[in-house]
Amino acid sequence: MYCFGIDVGGTSIKCGLFSENGALEDKWEIPTRTEEKGEHILPDIAEAIQKKMQEKNLKKEEIKGVGIGLPGPVTDQGEILCAVNLYWGRKNVEEELTRLTGLPSKAGNDANVAALGEVWKGAAEGHENVLMVTLGTGVGGGIILNGRIHTGVHGAAGEIGHANVNPHETESCNCGNKGCLEQVASATGIARLARQELAAGQDESVLRGLEDVTAKDVFDAYKQGDKTAAKVVDTFARYLSMGLSSFVSVLDPDVILIGGGVSRAGQVLIDCVEKYYRQYAFPSAKDTPIILASLGNDAGIYGAARLVIQNT
Ligand SMILES: [Zn+2]
Repeated sequence: MYCFGIDVGGTSIKCGLFSENGALEDKWEIPTRTEEKGEHILPDIAEAIQKKMQEKNLKKEEIKGVGIGLPGPVTDQGEILCAVNLYWGRKNVEEELTRLTGLPSKAGNDANVAALGEVWKGAAEGHENVLMVTLGTGVGGGIILNGRIHTGVHGAAGEIGHANVNPHETESCNCGNKGCLEQVASATGIARLARQELAAGQDESVLRGLEDVTAKDVFDAYKQGDKTAAKVVDTFARYLSMGLSSFVSVLDPDVILIGGGVSRAGQVLIDCVEKYYRQYAFPSAKDTPIILASLGNDAGIYGAARLVIQNT
């Protein structure tokens, strides 16, 4: 048996054909057509699936179903409440995708689905209870309990990027609040901290010569021993650890996974976060391992495939 894992982003849709045991047989991408309120997105996916089945000579009876990860809160019933990047309002994705493909479908939030992918075939393979934090343009999160996604009543479980970690913050987050984790731990948040540090301090820094400082620049400079970068990384690590220690008090997972573009900084990022995490965490959870996610951009298609396998 085979299944499809689909990961829908704002600019492209990643598609994977998997065997039931989790071998990735084929992967490809199609563009996300957001015009006309994103009404072409699901029909485009259905067409891509049908084309692939023809190409590989696969019959409907050989396909277990289609799993799909989406950028927005998704309920256990497969309904997305809104997806700003896709120009979608409320929509029952599972019903629509099943009607379009004639295959069983299961939908989930993209960050939750990525966590499920890492648990299935990535860095957290073999673990049943995992907290995954995705540090990208924003900060996302996924919670896996007993091997399954914890969605929450509104499909919003794991939306840890908007947990308040700094009540003294004066600038506003995209969500309208002030002091969110996303403001200090996302790629844009780290760049913002760097701009603040450069404006406030007089230290010489390789970052001063750069036109537009990115999170990658900050970690590269940190690895070279740059003092300003070290201050920024320290602030980032402190806030992220405050968030993690609170979330772990609620979840008590086997492992904390860190993924997303910022995590490409590698082990140095884990080392900085661990230092504060060990300090802040509840004693019995102080030794919870913090590790880097390993599937990169493929986590979403793996998780989507796993989601439909688990639920059909
Ligand atoms: Zn926020």
